[in-house]
Amino acid sequence: MMADAREDFSLRPAPAIPLDYPCAAPEPGQMTEVAPELFWARLPLPYAGGHVNVWLIDEGETWTVVDCGLGGNDTRAHWQSLLDGPMGGRSVRLLIGTHGHSDHVGFAGPFCEMTGAAFALPRAEWFLAVARKAETAESLLSAALNFYVHNGWPEDECRKALERRAKSFGRYGPLPASFRRIADGQTLVLGGLRWSVTTSEGHSLEHAMLLASDESLLIAGDELMPVASPPIGVQMYEPEANPLAEYFDRLARLEAVKEEVLVLPSHGSPYRGLRRRIEQIRGHFAKRLAQTLEAARQPATAYEICRTVFRNSVARGNMTIAFGQTLSLVNLLLARGALIGEAPGDGGPMRYLAATPAAKLDELTVAGCACPEER
Ligand SMILES: [Zn+2]
Repeated sequence: MMADAREDFSLRPAPAIPLDYPCAAPEPGQMTEVAPELFWARLPLPYAGGHVNVWLIDEGETWTVVDCGLGGNDTRAHWQSLLDGPMGGRSVRLLIGTHGHSDHVGFAGPFCEMTGAAFALPRAEWFLAVARKAETAESLLSAALNFYVHNGWPEDECRKALERRAKSFGRYGPLPASFRRIADGQTLVLGGLRWSVTTSEGHSLEHAMLLASDESLLIAGDELMPVASPPIGVQMYEPEANPLAEYFDRLARLEAVKEEVLVLPSHGSPYRGLRRRIEQIRGHFAKRLAQTLEAARQPATAYEICRTVFRNSVARGNMTIAFGQTLSLVNLLLARGALIGEAPGDGGPMRYLAATPAAKLDELTVAGCACPEER
């Protein structure tokens, strides 16, 4: 359960204090030392975001690597130049995946073959990667139509969006034949430092973070990016999931970490200012929750709420992602009793209605959100 203080959806403008970025970004094929024996390299991505960060931990004779990029020859060429160049031709003993998305572990199979590394990640993330890799346009379509159309997305429009999404398949290469499980509460010794593993549902099913025991470094994956709040969406295979609740719990636990910690995100630059960033992200989601309630002043489907709350994403053609994010807001509000779900008797789409009195809704929508992605 979450504490009362975190059940308040009212908008708290995020502090305007910027984050500190102490590290210069590495050039392609190069790495930058961000802490003793810990190096930062970047791999290109063919879509928004531009790159994914990977972390290289010097273990003396060998390396441990965190995340390895998308499947494909472009990633292979970048790794080859890193391995032959700044990594000095040494082997890699371990590849750790923060989570199972393709830009993090899509190249895991070839990487382990090239380097001899074992592959470690949380168990649910392994199965997520296996399932995503196996998706086909056909399998996606039947599950998706059930989920999306039930939530009000007109079927013809939904089919076209799914066909576009199907074209983005193929970003996973072969996965390694097996994996080593890392799990919440575990301690790993990497590069002479002890690291504690924490996992949580949120951006993914069991997303791992690694915190150095002296709290100098936090490998944060996609959960604490410096500019964009993490996309947190309900997936079609688990329509009643409430991933935002667990994510908020994780943010609350992270407040206990030293503010001087250097946060190592998967996209964007390493930064200091953990609590400032947590407040910004909370402000962002508070705004989205308030917008969701506002959009449900009259009974509305998730499709209608999505087109209001995420109108910019929808205009850019990211409807399937925005739809999952809408459901994560809806499911959190349902769980808190702030939204009521109405299933029509005629088999039509589910509709949602704000349970909060109108005066409270006005209060919720007054303040602004200062999170960077909204500027
Ligand atoms: Zn991700």
